[in-house]
Amino acid sequence: PRFFSTEEHSWQALVDGEPRAASGGETFAVLNPANGKVIASVADCSHEDALAAIDAAHRALPEWRARPAADRGAILRRWYDLMIAEEDALARLITAEMGKPLPEALGEVRYGAGYIKWFAEEAERVYGEIIPAPVGGARAFVTREPVGVCAAITPWNFPNAMLMRKVAPALAAGCTMVAKPAEDTPLSAIAAAHLAIQAGVPAGVFNVVPTSNAGDVGRALTESEVVRKLSFTGSTGVGRELLAQCAGTVKRTSMELGGNAPFIVFADADLDAAVDGAMASKYRNAGQTCVCANRFYVQRGIYDAFCAKLVERVRALKVGDGAEDGTEVGPLINQAALDKVSRLLAEAVAGGARIETGGANKDGLFFEPTVVADVARDASIVREEIFGPVAPIIVFDTEAEVVAAANDTPYGLAAYCYTRDLGRAWRMSDALEYGMVGLNEGIISSVAAPFGGIKQSGMGREGSRHGIEDYLEMKYIRMGGL
Ligand code: ADP
Repeated sequence: PRFFSTEEHSWQALVDGEPRAASGGETFAVLNPANGKVIASVADCSHEDALAAIDAAHRALPEWRARPAADRGAILRRWYDLMIAEEDALARLITAEMGKPLPEALGEVRYGAGYIKWFAEEAERVYGEIIPAPVGGARAFVTREPVGVCAAITPWNFPNAMLMRKVAPALAAGCTMVAKPAEDTPLSAIAAAHLAIQAGVPAGVFNVVPTSNAGDVGRALTESEVVRKLSFTGSTGVGRELLAQCAGTVKRTSMELGGNAPFIVFADADLDAAVDGAMASKYRNAGQTCVCANRFYVQRGIYDAFCAKLVERVRALKVGDGAEDGTEVGPLINQAALDKVSRLLAEAVAGGARIETGGANKDGLFFEPTVVADVARDASIVREEIFGPVAPIIVFDTEAEVVAAANDTPYGLAAYCYTRDLGRAWRMSDALEYGMVGLNEGIISSVAAPFGGIKQSGMGREGSRHGIEDYLEMKYIRMGGL
């Protein structure tokens, strides 16, 4: 379809089953970060447009939640089929709006669609309970009901998958949704919503309101009494602000926030496996994922060997436009991202760290894949989320020392640990204060597993059989007089 084209054209919001211009007629431009070219002009929705979308979602709710779960599941399954049928076009769209290499974009589309298939199946497995009544002549029941109208605010680093893992469980549970995609990457969300409608998702059940004014539309969503839940993926700072806004209406929230993943390599690790894991965890998506390894702790006995092997692999990475064959690392998303990576690296070097390879901004938004060794324990690059292709490496001696360093952060999303000692593997996975731990694995995300963090990395879990819980309320029913 024409709307998947990455040639410049205008994109509308999708409200109540129809493409819609912003009420004031405003638009904003979406740029390809690989070359700065405008690829789309998109409806710039206002506070009022968001209220109209909430209203549409509210009107669509009674019919949608009343359908048998099997019907909702069948529609979601058709949506999954359409996403897979259009996977190449959807992948090209991701690469055009956010820059990741095409094979990674294709992986994202399949991963995102995987959530739709998963929750199409889970829709029918929402069970209740019967509780032995505490008094005679009575019965106690628990049923599960959809939360109601939900809002989603999603980031640019996975413009397809981060939204799919919210909308799929929401719709499966019988909720309706208004989604606000990131301003850098609204196209994947709009394209997915068109396919949802084609699959038979009724008008108003899934609405997308792109905007360049996240604060305005965000407030329409958080302040609404109709919206019962907000699911957010993004930075901890914005998440904190949205939580405060949601307090006004005591909204349920799911928060997938920032991370500061430690990647720990013990001297007894399989060195090649550790380097493979480090490459995948650090340089995928140019380092722009919330579960990317953010700081490497390498035990003294293996430190030099690990650094040497990693540097060799990193030097071989091909940087370029994600749409070109063979590209392994694309551009960063925007100038602010580039400035942050440059600042963190400069501060690390000022603190005594040594650049082993890379270290500079190439042209445009491209940053060289970088390894920086002998980084100080308290450097800003170790405390802040880098979100770029830079691996800071720190040496350590003992297990107790590395556990303390790994947990010394307000974040608690993902952690990685490489060791071949079975006892140590379990001790480490117990000791790491994180929602997810990769043991001898650098890539751990899967639709079948619960994704989420603890501490200031958020609350709630996405994916797995638990992911639908965030979109369900319990209702207790007591029946007496039997
Ligand atoms: P990142 O640092 O990854 O860009 P952000 O937290 O800034 O993460 O963005 C994630 C999402 O939050 C995006 O959709 C963005 O538009 C949205 N966002 C940013 N600021 C606000 C805000 N004040 N209110 C509502 N949404 C916001």
